Amino acid sequence: MLERIPPGETIVLDLCYGTARNITGKAIYRNPACFLHPDAAIALHRAAGFAQALDLRLHIYDAFRPSEAQWVLWRHLPDPMYIADPREGSNHSRGVAVDLTLADRQGRVLDMGTPFDDMTMASHHGSVAVSREAQANRFLLLGLMRAAGFAHYAFEWWHYELPDANSYAVLDDRQAATGMMGQ
Ligand SMILES: [Zn+2]
Repeated sequence: MLERIPPGETIVLDLCYGTARNITGKAIYRNPACFLHPDAAIALHRAAGFAQALDLRLHIYDAFRPSEAQWVLWRHLPDPMYIADPREGSNHSRGVAVDLTLADRQGRVLDMGTPFDDMTMASHHGSVAVSREAQANRFLLLGLMRAAGFAHYAFEWWHYELPDANSYAVLDDRQAATGMMGQ
């Protein structure tokens, strides 16, 4: 079963697919919540500890994404470079992927050069199309997420997942019992 991650001192929840602030322009989750597989939750709390030592917080945009929601995204943008084909299964729908950035103690997100879900080459790790400060902030996020046990994805600075993500089962909302899709 998945573990619910509550907001707290080191973790800010800003679940974009529960609002219109996402690539579809509409809320996809009726009951937005942050759920992860317990293995990913352990790594996330480790990353939050690393961030806290630097007076930073994890600012989470998305975590578990029921496969119904993956279909909504795929129909909007069927490009496998940026959206996993729901027939193969997104690692978000396995509960072992998280989209996030870093925020300071006042809750201001660090400059990463592009917004979350900006599906352009400027979002790729190592892009020099963004400022040096943004490059450094991305590498800071990369370092603490890797040290916590996550793998990165070359085309999206905000996406992290467990290295053995494919060994976890894909779940729809009923199987995960999160109620996020409001069924
Ligand atoms: Zn992602």
